[in-house]
Amino acid sequence: MTTAFIVNSGSSSIKWELVDVESERRVRGGIVERIGEPGAAADHAEAMRGILGELGGEHPSVIGHRVVHGGSRFTTATLVTDEVEAAIEALSALAPLHNPPNLAGIRAARVAFPGVANVAVFDTAFHQSLPPAAYTYAIDSAVAHEHSIRRYGFHGTSYQYVSRRAAALLSRPLEQLKLIVFHLGNGASVAAIDGGRSVDTSMGMTPLEGLVMGTRSGDLDAGILFHLGRAGHTLPELDAMLNRRSGLLGVGGSGDLRDIQAAAGSGDAAAALALDVYHHRLRHYLGAYLVQLGGADAIVFTAGVGENSAPTRAAAVSGLGWLGIELDDARNDLRSRDARVISTDASPVAILVVPTNEELEIARQAIALVR
Ligand code: ADP
Repeated sequence: MTTAFIVNSGSSSIKWELVDVESERRVRGGIVERIGEPGAAADHAEAMRGILGELGGEHPSVIGHRVVHGGSRFTTATLVTDEVEAAIEALSALAPLHNPPNLAGIRAARVAFPGVANVAVFDTAFHQSLPPAAYTYAIDSAVAHEHSIRRYGFHGTSYQYVSRRAAALLSRPLEQLKLIVFHLGNGASVAAIDGGRSVDTSMGMTPLEGLVMGTRSGDLDAGILFHLGRAGHTLPELDAMLNRRSGLLGVGGSGDLRDIQAAAGSGDAAAALALDVYHHRLRHYLGAYLVQLGGADAIVFTAGVGENSAPTRAAAVSGLGWLGIELDDARNDLRSRDARVISTDASPVAILVVPTNEELEIARQAIALVR
């Protein structure tokens, strides 16, 4: 059996999966949590040695690492060398919460699995195809250049997997398709994908921009920050406010969409408003990307909310028959784990649900690189 070992290393946890490369099935997987806390693994190196033990002698052909920020440098999956490690470290300025723990996982794996190739797969890489008009912020260009300020976009690994799977479901070449893909999890974003290339996406320099998320605000007037700053809020407070206490949580009282839907259903006005704002933003981007792409062949929903919430999908695309977007309510309401079509047979624009699989995409890219 040829396997790929997939690592998603966070600040206090390592999620891992062993994928059989031929069948593309998950062989084994797990999560080491509370790294650094009493009674748990002391650090990422110790956690990785523990995982090595759980692999039961299995010797992976390649190790694929999820890395959040690849900046402007990494446009594709990349073999890890000392120099690549240093570049990922340098990019920590852009993703201070994510790149350092990602790197800790890479370093631990290089020590625990000597002789096995490590491949870094970046969340940002897929969006490096964005045109300047889409990635440039309209600020002082010297400042933007000095601080590497531009749109990078995230969830790229998911978009790559989902767009390819959507093309297969439609039995059409990806190169000929215009897709709008909504990745709606705790973090949420949407991408306009033309012929397999990302041409616009809602997350920006950081994952804060764009859609309303569980605890992140998404788009807002930057002037609000100056206003709150003048009112005495510090930068760390504002950072925490917008990243951890906004979005569905800030408006509706819970960061979990299921709670919000239930509360709204039983008459909670704040939850109902949070839901309305969430849907309003989805439709805002749907309209924008239909225009940017010049129409769409399919609208695709993925991740926790996109795969499971029929009411959210319905709210995003309802009343758009005049654009050739027609949901089939019965198909939308049917629960399934499979990739599926939920538009009517007559709908010129297909509407799809495609479960994402970022681990498998990382495995594919890592294997393709070492073969
Ligand atoms: P992450 O971004 O952490 O990977 P997921 O993709 O697993 O998250 O998505 C988690 C989100 O999916 C949660 O906010 C949860 O409320 C939402 N979710 C999962 N199932 C449902 C459902 N049946 N209805 C509405 N929301 C759901």
